[in-house]
Amino acid sequence: MRVNTFNFFNRCKRFINATMITLLCMVFFNCIMAQSDWDNVEIKTTKITDNFFMLEGRGGNIGIQIGEEGVLLIDSQFAPLSDKIHNAIRSLSDGPIKYLLNTHWHGDHTGGNEGMARHGAVIVAHDNVLARMSTTQLMKAFSTEIPPSPEAARPRITFSTDMTIQFNGEKALLLHFDNAHTDGDAVIYFPVSNVIHMGDIYFNGRYPFIDAGSGGTIDGIINAVNQVLFIANNDTKIIPGHGLLSNRDELLTYRDVLLTVRNNIHDALAAGKSEEEIKAMNMGGKYEETWGGQWTKASDLAEYVLRGLDN
Ligand SMILES: [Zn+2]
Repeated sequence: MRVNTFNFFNRCKRFINATMITLLCMVFFNCIMAQSDWDNVEIKTTKITDNFFMLEGRGGNIGIQIGEEGVLLIDSQFAPLSDKIHNAIRSLSDGPIKYLLNTHWHGDHTGGNEGMARHGAVIVAHDNVLARMSTTQLMKAFSTEIPPSPEAARPRITFSTDMTIQFNGEKALLLHFDNAHTDGDAVIYFPVSNVIHMGDIYFNGRYPFIDAGSGGTIDGIINAVNQVLFIANNDTKIIPGHGLLSNRDELLTYRDVLLTVRNNIHDALAAGKSEEEIKAMNMGGKYEETWGGQWTKASDLAEYVLRGLDN
């Protein structure tokens, strides 16, 4: 077997660099978790329509649909917030909590699953969410091992491509997109209410975290966003996984920024630039400073894109 020593050397170098970054991320992540003061987290409720609301606390945005049949939730944030989230739901509706739909497996979206299941919610998600929540996961980006979730926190109903739930007099469409933020993403679309929850396929006004270790890729995200842009109109209310309540115009900007980043990285690779050079260059034009200056730095995004290309 012929060994390409140049490629081998480059891959080793990339591995060492990735390890350095992930160790730093792990320290950062652990510090954040250790400092988490759950008592000080306030749950903010934003009204979207007469029967749709968005909850913000810590972790992924929660969508709530209420109606005559009860309550449907999308995502559940962290376990220590479950009582506060339940109180917020009860300030909107006395109805039974029937369904909890998960947009993907990450703990900042599924940590409260067990608590909501205790309140009666049936958890629904893509097949790969159940698979990942049932086994130990390595979050490569943070070099952290995530143990399997308790049985009660795992989805009870799963689907492989798409699924429809009829509830509160309208359809909820669960649309799966391959290899976007992870390999188990679902976008939840309510055509009658004209509301869409995109999970972490959409970080509004900031660079996204792309979980390459869970099968996430920038091309998958761009593809998913393009399809949501196709079904959304100017009145559609769009709930991002993180960031403020949004709309089609802002989603279009997000798509264009990601496309710019992706094309710049592909061009740089084609021109023979090293990973270090790619991470140091301006990938996102005028959005680099503001969007890349938040939780996901520009160099982190480059890392996620490059790791995704390895998949
Ligand atoms: Zn996520």
